[in-house]
Amino acid sequence: MKVLVTGGAGFIGSNFVIYMLKKYPDYQIINLDALTYAGNLENLKSVEGNKNYKFIKADITDVKSVENVFSEGVDIVVNFAAESHVDRSILQPDIFVKTNVLGTQVLLEASKKYGVKKYVQVSTDEVYGSLGETGLFSEDTPLSPNSPYSASKAGGDLLVRAYHETFNLPVNITRCSNNYGPYQFPEKLIPLIISNALNDKTLPVYGDGLNIRDWLYVEDHCSAVDLVIHQGRNGEVYNIGGNNERTNIYIVKEILAALNKPESLISYVADRPGHDRRYGIDATKITDELGWQPKYNFETGIKATIAWYLDNKEWWNTIQSGQYKEYYDKQYSKR
Ligand code: NAD
Repeated sequence: MKVLVTGGAGFIGSNFVIYMLKKYPDYQIINLDALTYAGNLENLKSVEGNKNYKFIKADITDVKSVENVFSEGVDIVVNFAAESHVDRSILQPDIFVKTNVLGTQVLLEASKKYGVKKYVQVSTDEVYGSLGETGLFSEDTPLSPNSPYSASKAGGDLLVRAYHETFNLPVNITRCSNNYGPYQFPEKLIPLIISNALNDKTLPVYGDGLNIRDWLYVEDHCSAVDLVIHQGRNGEVYNIGGNNERTNIYIVKEILAALNKPESLISYVADRPGHDRRYGIDATKITDELGWQPKYNFETGIKATIAWYLDNKEWWNTIQSGQYKEYYDKQYSKR
């Protein structure tokens, strides 16, 4: 089986590549990634040299490069490649539309042309918009995205659906809640808080800190996508979530306590425009149909994550000292 993983040098993609090579030693994994600021081949050091792993530097919006890969035979496509950070989508929406909408269409077209057996689009619960105090997102919740990021992901999802309805392409869409774990770029909440706290830097928290997200340890997301690839019913959407709803401020305080750092590091900053208040996932469908169960609860997952960032300071120090610093200063200096 030949699996094309796009965006495999990013946070979830690299965890997925490592997971698949370990679980299926006879599968070939091709990682196609443009290596944007978020792509980091350091994440894949442990699989470099594995004869079943190949890296190709290419952009999913580049038809020629994509077709070159497909023409050598691909059975399964798992599309993780995306611009993924909401704050960046507010600063520069155009690249989100290009990669997340056009890039998806290029992959779908190649999948149709070369007759892949399965195309899985890795999407997000953010396409459903924001919840009130009660209720959960189901697969039937109408799409109601509020940020350029989530709108571009919803656009990609709709194209995936259309390629199934129009061309009978064997597709699935997964919509997962917030992930955390090893190799997450330190612009996202959990690694940002861990790394800033370790450096005794202030911890920027949006608004009143009471926005709620559902959190899933990245390995549990990988196991869910694995099940969908092999057992997902064509054309179906599967929500993936950890049943771990937490306010942002709860998470920040948990991390501070675990690192023995003072809460005086917390600094409330002006809220993100269009900031969704609450996400919550109903993952009954994937649990009942495919037998998926997460292995980690929030307490065990956050412990493992903190331990990983403590053991891998060099990984995130390198990231924070480069181009990322410019973005960070721009994002938080004016608040
Ligand atoms: P990430 O930003 O860490 O990684 C994205 C990867 O895609 C990077 O390696 C980057 O180089 C690559 N990429 C970007 N544009 C590309 C292009 N045009 N061509 C080829 N490669 C390109 O993102 P992530 O957090 O690992 O998320 C992966 C996927 O999962 C995304 O599609 C995201 O929408 C989805 N998702 C993420 C979360 C989360 O909490 N992180 C939750 C649900 C869904």
